[in-house]
Amino acid sequence: MKFCSLGSGSSGNSYLVSKNNTNILVDCGFSVTELEGRMAQRQIKPTEITAIFLTHEHDDHSKGIFALAEKYNKPIYLTYGTLKMCQKRIKKSYNLNINIISPLDTLELNDFIISIIPVPHDAREPVQFKFQSEKTTLAIITDLGFGNKELINSIKQINALILESNHDENLLHKSRYPKNLKDRIRSNYGHLSNEESLGILKKLNLDNLKWLGAAHLSKENNSPELVKDAWKKVFEDKINIIDPDLGMPWVSI
Ligand SMILES: [Zn+2]
Ligand SMILES: [Zn+2]
Repeated sequence: MKFCSLGSGSSGNSYLVSKNNTNILVDCGFSVTELEGRMAQRQIKPTEITAIFLTHEHDDHSKGIFALAEKYNKPIYLTYGTLKMCQKRIKKSYNLNINIISPLDTLELNDFIISIIPVPHDAREPVQFKFQSEKTTLAIITDLGFGNKELINSIKQINALILESNHDENLLHKSRYPKNLKDRIRSNYGHLSNEESLGILKKLNLDNLKWLGAAHLSKENNSPELVKDAWKKVFEDKINIIDPDLGMPWVSI
């Protein structure tokens, strides 16, 4: 299995997970043109996408996703709640192949078994995904306020993990963000701080973890160094930081 990121922050999130000829796009927080350019940098064409998965309706994840699905005639997978909240993005002329997924379900798609993980976040029905191919597992977990039981159970023995580490609590406290935005980010339906993402890592069995990356970092209220300082308390191997603007190149596990 291999995976890459095309962007990982408030200006746009998107990931690709691949095995053999199956290429799954997770989220598209970019315009179609922007995504096409970013995919070209990873040497893959939108025509090669097998399926598109959407985690939740927020703009930084959903911006171009329906236009992309329409343009390239690709199936899109999302929860009913997410679909309801995305109506404004779906033009009447679109002829979409929509597949409703349910939290805690698993589905098989060519080389993958995909687990649908519900997460606490201020969206209608947000989920995140775990991908299994043969005996290898990867989870992409961003946009959540805390590590709920369903999440911890699902990723306990994970082999590769992309985990949100959005902000440093002190930097957020001191930042120029308005109070209501700070409260939203900090809440149980907001985003994970470095301390909270560390708390999740502490609950996992890290013996089988071969690759670890931090995602959805705030450019204003966090830094790669602060994330690494927090996470190295539990993970001694390399800690990867996914660039909020540029994402990261392909990694094979
Ligand atoms: Zn987000
Ligand atoms: Zn979100």
